[in-house]
Amino acid sequence: MSTSIPDHTSNQMIAKLKSKIKRLELEKKKAHQKSQNELANLKYYYESILAILPGHIYCVDKHNHYLFCNNLQAQNIKLPSREAIVGKTNDDLLPKAQASALNAINIEIMRTGLPQTDEEYADMAHGPGVFLSHKVPLYNKENEIIGLLGVSLDITKQKQTEQALAIALEKAESANRAKNTFIANMSHDIRTPLTGVIGMSQLLEQQLQNEKEKQYARWIHESGNQLLKLLNGILEITSAEQVNEHTLNETSFSLSHCLKELTHLERPAALIKGLDFRVEIDPNLPELIITDRAKIHRVLLNLISNAVKFTHHGFVKIKVIQDSETQETCTLTFSIQDSGIGIPKSLQTKIFDRFFRGNPSDKGLYPGYGVGLHIVHAYVQMLGGRIHVESEKGKGSTFTCQLTFKKDLSSHTTMKLKQPIVPHSSHTKPRLLLIEDNLIALKLLEHLTHLANYPFLSADSAEAALKILETETVDVIITDIGLPGLSGIELTQEIRKSKTLHQPIIIGLTAYAPEETTHACLHAGMHRVLTKPVDFKQLETAFQNLLSSPSAKSPSLGYDLPATETALFNLTAYPLLDLQQAIQMLSSQIILKEMLTLMLHEQIPQDLVLLQEAFIKNNWSAIESLAHKMKAGALYCGTRRMHMACQYLERYRKAGYSKALEALYRQLLTVLEETKEAIGAWLVSFEEVEELG
Ligand code: ADP
Repeated sequence: MSTSIPDHTSNQMIAKLKSKIKRLELEKKKAHQKSQNELANLKYYYESILAILPGHIYCVDKHNHYLFCNNLQAQNIKLPSREAIVGKTNDDLLPKAQASALNAINIEIMRTGLPQTDEEYADMAHGPGVFLSHKVPLYNKENEIIGLLGVSLDITKQKQTEQALAIALEKAESANRAKNTFIANMSHDIRTPLTGVIGMSQLLEQQLQNEKEKQYARWIHESGNQLLKLLNGILEITSAEQVNEHTLNETSFSLSHCLKELTHLERPAALIKGLDFRVEIDPNLPELIITDRAKIHRVLLNLISNAVKFTHHGFVKIKVIQDSETQETCTLTFSIQDSGIGIPKSLQTKIFDRFFRGNPSDKGLYPGYGVGLHIVHAYVQMLGGRIHVESEKGKGSTFTCQLTFKKDLSSHTTMKLKQPIVPHSSHTKPRLLLIEDNLIALKLLEHLTHLANYPFLSADSAEAALKILETETVDVIITDIGLPGLSGIELTQEIRKSKTLHQPIIIGLTAYAPEETTHACLHAGMHRVLTKPVDFKQLETAFQNLLSSPSAKSPSLGYDLPATETALFNLTAYPLLDLQQAIQMLSSQIILKEMLTLMLHEQIPQDLVLLQEAFIKNNWSAIESLAHKMKAGALYCGTRRMHMACQYLERYRKAGYSKALEALYRQLLTVLEETKEAIGAWLVSFEEVEELG
């Protein structure tokens, strides 16, 4: 059975449905409107954030057309709105060269897909600008690159500040360099007349008869020496300031040879202090290394001399080991250990500071300027190494320094000094040419040469000397190095390259001889470089030894030996005690006094016993070693006759002779006794002077 719905009811239902649909449609419209509004708000929200973001933000498509930018970018390229950038390219906005550079960077990022950060240059509304730009590629859903997003930060101001700072730094450094050069020149200029005062006062002392007047002359001499020491200190400090110059002068050389030189230099001072001086060098060190020899030398010398200076009892130990090596390089550790006064923990970070001195109040006991370790630190860094110290107050210190060097694999590349030709003298007494621009220094030299009875010529410049050499022949040239016009080194080069000039022995004189200068002089063809003030005897020994050296035509017994056997016993020309040399070496009378006291009461008596024991046993090899050991100590203390007596005995035996050995041994015993007397007399007079003043 079916039921039918009355018409009016169905009409009512349809009307209801219609109204419902209408309501729903209205609601849908409202919801749509609402979501449209929300979307618009969101878009506005994000767009306004993007628009005001700091920095310069932009997007380009694959063809470098701009898709978007923020306000700052639009303002800086003078666009009315940020929308105005859409579709433009760098070529529309920037000078051609800048546009091409930016385009090239963008293309590269889109090609590789790698983000990039670069410094970019672009002309902006406010003028030329420098930007630090970070750029990343943009991808679509298919992971294809469709453009890039860039954020550029304006670093123009920082760059300008950086440049201004660099210019200010350069100005400050050049002012500092000028100051250092001025101080160095002043020290040099003061030293030249001072050298005259020192030399003249010594001459005066020799010529005066009255003991009191002699003493006054000696005091002038000693004060002059002290002033000279001060000037040397100033030079040392200014050279310490120059260590910022990053110049490495790399050469190939034998490290073991360099170490030997250093230990020879420091051993006497250690032995005189009664220290056990030990050296342990890894036998596997490479034969030749390539590095800055002068800097390595300075680093090790400063460390070793500090170890000796700050140690009173016990030992100083130098150890060099090879940590590792490759085919081309070797890494070495140098350790310099001592059982000295040590460094308190609180000072261990300060000792490398310039001018820092741990014991300034004990000035006399530990002389120094507090620049040694500063130089060491700077040089080790320049050489790419590391240095550190372990120390305990009262127990000692160990400085450890690790450095990597290139090995010299070709055995033929060792630096060779030009060997000057030793001339043959046609005169009985060699003829000298003296070159000095300082009148007093020249007069002094002339006077000493005259006293020693040598024929001589003199010149006040290298140019004048060259003129003389065109017509005159001389055997020995003694020249100041720092001459105005052509320097002593240039003069030597001129003479050595000349095919017509006679080739004399050339000895350079300088007030200050850093290792580099000495090397430059020897390279130029000088035979020796001596430091002013020079004692004429020292000068004479130098050129006489050269004139009678094995390569000269005159006969000679050998290296470091005189021409004849008779001359072996002619030691009176050498003073028993050369105070000037000793003070120059030790730079302090107080240290000299200490050393001579040790020598008088301990070293010489002990060595005498050992010498005599060896002689009784006919053990000449032990005598030779003893003579060698004593020779080094004697050099430091200015006991020159003892030095020569040791040298002749040692060298004579080394050269393989035996005839005069016993006489040389007896000569040494006599000289030791004479030396003891001379030291004793000086110590007494020193104490008297101390009491007086
Ligand atoms: P200087 O020796 O001229 O005073 P340095 O720069 O060489 O200057 O050394 C700085 C300071 O470090 C020294 O004054 C000293 O206090 C300390 N020092 C350096 N080496 C040693 C050492 N081997 N033992 C004890 N103290 C040391």
